[in-house]
Amino acid sequence: MGTGPPVEHTRETSIRDNVKSVLESLPGNVELVAAAKTRSPKEILAAVKAGVTAIGENYVREAEEAFAVIGHNAVWHFIGHLQRNKVKKAVRIFDMIETIDCLSLAEEVDKSSRDTGRVMPVLVEINSGREEQKYGVFPEKAGDLIRKIAMLPNIKVRGLMTMGPFSGDPENARPYFRETRKIFNEIAGQDISGLEMSCLSMGMSNSYRVAIEEGATMVRIGTGIFGERD
Ligand SMILES: *Cc1c(COP(=O)(O)O)cnc(C)c1O
Repeated sequence: MGTGPPVEHTRETSIRDNVKSVLESLPGNVELVAAAKTRSPKEILAAVKAGVTAIGENYVREAEEAFAVIGHNAVWHFIGHLQRNKVKKAVRIFDMIETIDCLSLAEEVDKSSRDTGRVMPVLVEINSGREEQKYGVFPEKAGDLIRKIAMLPNIKVRGLMTMGPFSGDPENARPYFRETRKIFNEIAGQDISGLEMSCLSMGMSNSYRVAIEEGATMVRIGTGIFGERD
């Protein structure tokens, strides 16, 4: 150990600097969601103090821990794969679920939202790479699914989310972002009642600049804020 500041202090300082520079790099119409998986409530709190207003969580249990510390000082987005047996808890914490990809999950969220006396904003996750092992609805099936979800009274579809295939070079993600934007525009143009197509969530630390060029209105950034995951 040297004589510098304690490790924890250094980490909070770098989170703060990262948040500032990410926020400065975003156009005014693009919303930042800090992807917080594996981060401690303390780290997440440091990001909130530095200006993060939305937190993305992949696991309900991690979210409960962080929520106990941060509460409504930020809004909470669910960005992982939502298991049926976690829906009830998820509906209590989250302000948006970004990963609806089939009707049965939507129905489950609708039912729990009704029981809680609320309407849950959701995004429909598009499997833009058409990868069998990944979650999300295939592009050609998105329209049908969304028309059905739009009829559920306690869910409000607010837009789309996509991951795209993992790749080192962000340019490789561009066609998938572009296709998701195209679906977004098509669905928004259909004037389906109950829909409010305003969010397009795509792009992560390495790809968010490309995603914004392709029309993202929401980016989910983890390592670019908190550093590499252990
Ligand atoms: C982890 C994660 C991110 C952020 O990834 P980084 O490369 O750490 O920026 C974004 N979206 C989802 C769904 C994630 O699970």
